[in-house]
Amino acid sequence: MDKILRIDMGAAGGPAVTIDPPGDYAGLGGRALTSAVIAKEVPPECHPLGEDNKLVIAPGLLGGSAAAMSGRISVGCKSPLTGGIKESNSGGQPAQLLGRLGYGAIILEGKPEGDHLYKVVVNKDGVQVVADDSLKMLGNYDLVDKIKSAYGDKVACISIGQAGEMKLAAASVAFSDMEQRPSRHAGRGGVGAVMGSKRVKVIVVDDSGCSMRTPANAEKFKEANKAFVQGLKKHAVTGEGLPTYGTNVLTNVVNEAGGYPTLNFQKGQFEGAAKISGEAQAELENERGGPGSATQGCHRGCVIRCSGTYYDRDGAYVTKQPEYETVWAHGGNCGIDDLDAIARMDRMDDDFGLDTIEMGATIGVAMEAGLAKFGDAEAAIGLLKEVGQGTPLGRILGSGAAVTGRVFGVERVPVVKGQSMPAYDPRAVQGIGVTYATSTMGADHTAGYAVATNLLSVGGSVDPLKPEGQVELSRNLQITTAAIDSTGMCLFIAFAIMDQPETFQALVDLIGAFTGQAMTGDDLTALGQAVLKRERDYNARAGFTAKDDRLPDYFRKEALGPHNVTFQVSDEELDQVFNF
Ligand code: SF4
Repeated sequence: MDKILRIDMGAAGGPAVTIDPPGDYAGLGGRALTSAVIAKEVPPECHPLGEDNKLVIAPGLLGGSAAAMSGRISVGCKSPLTGGIKESNSGGQPAQLLGRLGYGAIILEGKPEGDHLYKVVVNKDGVQVVADDSLKMLGNYDLVDKIKSAYGDKVACISIGQAGEMKLAAASVAFSDMEQRPSRHAGRGGVGAVMGSKRVKVIVVDDSGCSMRTPANAEKFKEANKAFVQGLKKHAVTGEGLPTYGTNVLTNVVNEAGGYPTLNFQKGQFEGAAKISGEAQAELENERGGPGSATQGCHRGCVIRCSGTYYDRDGAYVTKQPEYETVWAHGGNCGIDDLDAIARMDRMDDDFGLDTIEMGATIGVAMEAGLAKFGDAEAAIGLLKEVGQGTPLGRILGSGAAVTGRVFGVERVPVVKGQSMPAYDPRAVQGIGVTYATSTMGADHTAGYAVATNLLSVGGSVDPLKPEGQVELSRNLQITTAAIDSTGMCLFIAFAIMDQPETFQALVDLIGAFTGQAMTGDDLTALGQAVLKRERDYNARAGFTAKDDRLPDYFRKEALGPHNVTFQVSDEELDQVFNF
């Protein structure tokens, strides 16, 4: 990936394209690249929707290669939701296609005059930026269908729905999957609003005529890839749990542990959990003639295949198999135990282009404010419709839980740095609480998934209810995650590489054989540390201080049942997370 594509949407005379060598960014991929560009080129004090912000879309280091699991993509910007640096990660096909086209990143910059909406087409012959107002206010599904009719069934799309066009802070960027559906999203932090501010509706990626990227040392690469895949297949989580039930296998596990945030984080267990669990989901899909398990990858080259398809009662496609965090957000968090209603909301989120976690958390806050009753699925669907329609209420909800809480006077608002907490209560899973509090991204489980060690005994075992050991756990996981996010690998490989030293070594060998540069485990750690330091420095320049590395007050005051526990990790300990 020897070139970077820049599109200055604000250039005099219309959008201007430049294609340059990577320069200062050579050797970087994924999150390392997006965060390096934002840190260097985007003024920390700028308005996230203004001309000075940039949207950076970057496959990982191994994107476009034959390395298993390497098709994830990073989207970076200054976040309209948090006001800090953002990297949001997605599956889908575009990473592999961009890699094969030789692009290390696409950078959208500037701000166009006027109100035209643009389509970008990238193929082996070059790049076209075309005004196309016929795409205005299309949902992602109609949009991708339209693109498919015009460009065929081999292209991949990077797009926004109505929420991105309205520049709502919960807007996502959609990435089309192997079936050319816009079902994979860089959901967090409002990255879709930044794409909307650049007035780019869709980037069509066509890799026809391009071949896979080749490794520097083909033989070693093949050997390492084989060992890596074997390691993934033999681990209980990556070889069995995730492929059998998908991520929703966690519903019963987290609920039994008392860490399942219920009714807007009022309780740690949900009575209806079994009805919306991965097991119930698989049974339902079996009844409806679907495969009944998680049999699909979100991109070519995924061997864990934690994803699947959700069908309605008549066997018609509704959405991809909703993930654990989505089932929680629109389910237990809102007191809803109806999988069909949850799947409908997942589809609506994907179509409008919204982060499912932010929207579920926001509806939970709205329910607490009395806008709807907990458990009322039709009312929740109604609120989501308002967002897609852009009514005044919908625009408030689409701005996320923090704004909604302020507008409606709610104290219990589960956010850090303005971003909603995902599906693990930090009082019953204290390690994830440390990650929520201190991550450069705002509350984000993927930034340092301490749930693995707190609840699943992966990478050792740390008592989830006690403060001891949580800071070190979160620190190490945040470093490892920042490195993995830079390779283009799916984060779920972490289960196997944390438990199996030979699988970690296979990953290190795989990267080394691909780049041709000797690589050690310490190099990966150093990469993760460098990414985090750069992001922390950016956030400090944007005005963040230690006070922003805190959970909302009520997590220390309100005990969570059934364990009757509050968040116990002290502020002094939280301030030690980035001591490296
Ligand atoms: S394991 Fe799941 S999330 Fe990861 S790449 Fe495969 S399908 Fe996507």
